[in-house]
Amino acid sequence: ATLSVASLLTESARRHADRPALLFAGTTTTYAQLWDEVRAYAGALRDRGIGPGDRVAMIVPNVPDFARVYYAALALGAVVVPVHLLFKAEEIAYVLRDAEADLFVVAAPLLGEALPAAAATGIPVVTVLLPAGTPAPVGDLPRLEVEAAAATPIERHTATRPTDPATILYTSGTTGTPKGAVGSHLALVEQVHCSLIDSFDLHSGDVVFGGLPLFHTFGQTAVMNMAIRVGASIILLPRFDADEALALMVAHGATVFTAVPTMYVGMLEAARRSDTRPPLRYAVSGGAALPVAVLEAFRDVFGADVHEGYGLTETAPIVSSNSLVEPIRPGTVGRPLWGVDVAIADPEEEERITLLADPDALGEVVVRGHNLFKGYLGRPDATDAAIVDGWFRTGDLGRFVDGVLTIVDRKKDMIVRSGYNVYPTEVEAVIARHPGVAVAAVFGVADDLRGQEVHVAVVAHDGQTVDADELIAFTRDRIAAYKYPRTVHVLSELPLGGSGKVLKRELVARFSPAPA
Ligand code: ATP
Repeated sequence: ATLSVASLLTESARRHADRPALLFAGTTTTYAQLWDEVRAYAGALRDRGIGPGDRVAMIVPNVPDFARVYYAALALGAVVVPVHLLFKAEEIAYVLRDAEADLFVVAAPLLGEALPAAAATGIPVVTVLLPAGTPAPVGDLPRLEVEAAAATPIERHTATRPTDPATILYTSGTTGTPKGAVGSHLALVEQVHCSLIDSFDLHSGDVVFGGLPLFHTFGQTAVMNMAIRVGASIILLPRFDADEALALMVAHGATVFTAVPTMYVGMLEAARRSDTRPPLRYAVSGGAALPVAVLEAFRDVFGADVHEGYGLTETAPIVSSNSLVEPIRPGTVGRPLWGVDVAIADPEEEERITLLADPDALGEVVVRGHNLFKGYLGRPDATDAAIVDGWFRTGDLGRFVDGVLTIVDRKKDMIVRSGYNVYPTEVEAVIARHPGVAVAAVFGVADDLRGQEVHVAVVAHDGQTVDADELIAFTRDRIAAYKYPRTVHVLSELPLGGSGKVLKRELVARFSPAPA
């Protein structure tokens, strides 16, 4: 048995040697080339003393070097620690220390924040993408490409045990300091195979949009590892810009679009400015709730069904998905993936997990299966609080209807207004139907009288305006009195995190009354 996450690539290097693996900035890397480059990078990492179980941290955007470094480290049996691209020096230093990184691979454009972090921790740095001729001292930093050219390439990847750690992915820390979720080779390999067989029909002729950040679980599993496994081509986009994304998808004939909802909204805006469309076969949404109005608009404009799925960093990430083998149920996240158990637990119980007997009850979604992370690195207490009796507590509220899962909202995003529970996702889905609104985020703001008040931040479609009173009237006509937003903030854009999701905590902070 020689399975490892790296074997997803070695297999395709054999079967699809001449097919394009990576499409980036006018260059094409075939599967044979990619595997040769990975073998050479792995040779260089090995010469630096990296071997099984060592931790290779990397801060690299969506460029071919992400795939080279990722698979090279995994091919040596090392553990990859991809660092969030937006992290500042202090946050990077925290991750390097917490993960006990042995080496830090830094893409030159990110040296500004990464170098001070490396200096503070004493962890050796090696660069990629450093332009030749960069003046000293930065120009003197070691270059992985140069070391790889001189190193003897590895012959084959190192075999792993299924439970060996493959990645440490840091949660973005909305709820305190980031925690490192340790993912096993088994979780990652099975995720790819189960989703490919159970839900998606991806093959070597496909051209996949690669704008989701690869440091994040969604892009890593659902775009990179899945595409690499079947020998499909990935269009790499280092920074999501909807007009550029549309143009590249048209130029390369993209057949699959996998993205977070804010990217869907961006694509719809871009499609108002350009008539050209890529030959999409299907699209996949995840990471946050996709309003049905957006799903429908995307289908109408791009002619592709959108398959919404649900998952988390801790679950590798796919928990459930609307699959290609049955009709889509808009507004739901489909059925659990094969091998993944999903149940609904009493959300009030903090210490234990009590599954609710009523099959259609609303409660906290809990997950069990091969896809679960091994735990939070160095945090047995946090791990024990998150995984109880084998069940992982997601922090999300949801319910099953006819075996199909709906995510109602995050527990912590739920608004309690005058004692009534308001679920922002439901209100956002209504607001998304307003013709002037491109995107909306509903959040709760502390209120002396009602405990919390419902606010919404909206961005209007290009060239349109949204009138606050009119929008309030629009929602008042469509949902119960306690749910509709009392305050509308019309913004030019919403604050987004590195994975493209709306940062509600920033909206809450910005629009909360100053403490008395
Ligand atoms: P952090 O955990 O660091 O605060 P995060 O919660 O965004 O960041 P992720 O693991 O990226 O971390 O996201 C998982 C969460 O995303 C889920 O718990 C859920 O709240 C949300 N989510 C994912 N897919 C969907 C979906 N289809 N519908 C609604 N919510 C979703």
